[in-house]
Amino acid sequence: MNLESGTEDMENNLQIVFATGNPHKLQEINEISKNSGIEFILPPEGFEPNENGKTFEQNSYIKAFEASKISGQISLADDSGLCVEALNGEPGIYSARYAETPQKRINKLLANLTHSDNRKAKFVCAMTLVDKCGNILTQEIGECHGEISKIQSGKNGFGYDPIFLVDGYGITMADMSEDLKNSISHRAAALKKIIMFIKQNFV
Ligand code: IMP
Repeated sequence: MNLESGTEDMENNLQIVFATGNPHKLQEINEISKNSGIEFILPPEGFEPNENGKTFEQNSYIKAFEASKISGQISLADDSGLCVEALNGEPGIYSARYAETPQKRINKLLANLTHSDNRKAKFVCAMTLVDKCGNILTQEIGECHGEISKIQSGKNGFGYDPIFLVDGYGITMADMSEDLKNSISHRAAALKKIIMFIKQNFV
C-alpha cells in the first residue's frame, strides 16, 4: 500500500475521492467496485468543476483535477453520455443538457430519429484518475453498445435508460435489474480498467 496515494478506512480499504456531488452515483461506483479493497468517497464541500471540455476525456480530467485540488488526495472522475450513430454522435457530451428534463430529452431523441432506420447507439464513459497534485495517472474508456428503441420501456435506472436496448439482451437498460446494469454498463467497463490499474500500481 502506498500511503502517499490515498488514505485507508477502518477496514484497510484504500480510499479514493470520487469527483461527484451526487451520492447516488457514488453508491453505484462503490457497488461496482465492492470487494476490490477500494472505497470511493465524496470530495469535500465546495466541489464545483467547470465542465467546459470538448470531449468526455477532457471533462473527466477537469472534474478529477478539481477534486484533487480541494481534497489533496488521489481522485477519480467520470464523464459519460449517449452517442447516436445517425445523429453524428449526438447528444454526446451534451447528453445532460439536450433538453430541459429527462422525459423531454427522450422525446427529442426519438423525434430526431423518426425517419432513421439506423438506430445504433452507445453509452460512453471516460474516467480519469489523478494523483494528489492533479497529474494524470491513467485515463480509461468504457462503452456499452445498443440501439435506440421506438417506444420507451422500464422503470429502473435514469436518463436515456428507457430507450436504450442493450445488444445481446433484447431489453432496455431501464428493464434491467441494478445488478445486471452494473455488470454490463459503460461505467462498469471503465471502472474495472481503473481498478486493475490501481491494484497493479498502488495496492
Ligand atoms: P454524467 O456524466 O453522469 O453527468 O452523465 C451525463 C448524462 O449522460 C446523464 O445526465 C444522462 O443523460 C446520460 N447518461 C450517462 N450515463 C447514463 C446511463 O447509465 N443511463 C442513462 N443515461 C446516462
